[in-house]
Amino acid sequence: MLPSLFISHGSPMLALEPGASGPALVKLAADMPRPNAIVVVSAHWESPHLRLTAGEKPQTWHDFGGFPAELYTVQYPAPGAPQLAEDIAQQLNDAGLPAQLDAQRPFDHGAWVPLSLMYPNADIPVLQLSLPSHLGPELQTRVGRALASLRAQGILLIGSGSITHNLGALNWRAGPEVITPWAKEFRDWMVEKLAADDEAALHQYRHLAPHAMRNHPSEEHLLPLFFAHGAGGAFSVVHAGFTYGALGMDIYRFD
Ligand code: ZN
Repeated sequence: MLPSLFISHGSPMLALEPGASGPALVKLAADMPRPNAIVVVSAHWESPHLRLTAGEKPQTWHDFGGFPAELYTVQYPAPGAPQLAEDIAQQLNDAGLPAQLDAQRPFDHGAWVPLSLMYPNADIPVLQLSLPSHLGPELQTRVGRALASLRAQGILLIGSGSITHNLGALNWRAGPEVITPWAKEFRDWMVEKLAADDEAALHQYRHLAPHAMRNHPSEEHLLPLFFAHGAGGAFSVVHAGFTYGALGMDIYRFD
């Protein structure tokens, strides 16, 4: 049985400059059975209602600006999985979570950047499931639970976001040794509640966690964590760290 994962995807430059979390992603992939398919909930696909990629060969979308030209040449030509998308849409529908298929949607960098490190051959089918972010953590927990059984079918479920994400508060020159206290306090609170499996507190993180608004002025980068938590079981930390002073790079697994 595969775990579900939460991956802090960092800057898109992670694809070219893996830092400390890149090797952790490589090792994580090597430590798991090879998936038959991968389903990613990315912070970079917000939508009013659930949507699911259904194209045969989704394009690689460089959905960012201002990075070196080399980054725009990176391709992640993983196949889609239209039949699996139909099956998953049915499974979601049966759980009272209707999802529309989207045959045009490309892979965004929340999906392809970490996958390019974990599975560089791009030979495992990938689906993306959208994030109705206005419905908050509870919906993501429900979606994760609705799809948890896929793990027993060799399908890897990934929430891709960031454990802390205030881009306006980053120090772009800071190395990994610089850790901003308000980011660490928030991250430590989340890890404590995940380890205790305190779902009620986690769902109320915006009111209960220290510096929640400061770490997540908007919550789309944290919400994929709730998908991974809902989809999996026992929590463990695969990798912990910060970059640019306050951008969390933590990776978690739920077995
Ligand atoms: Zn992002």
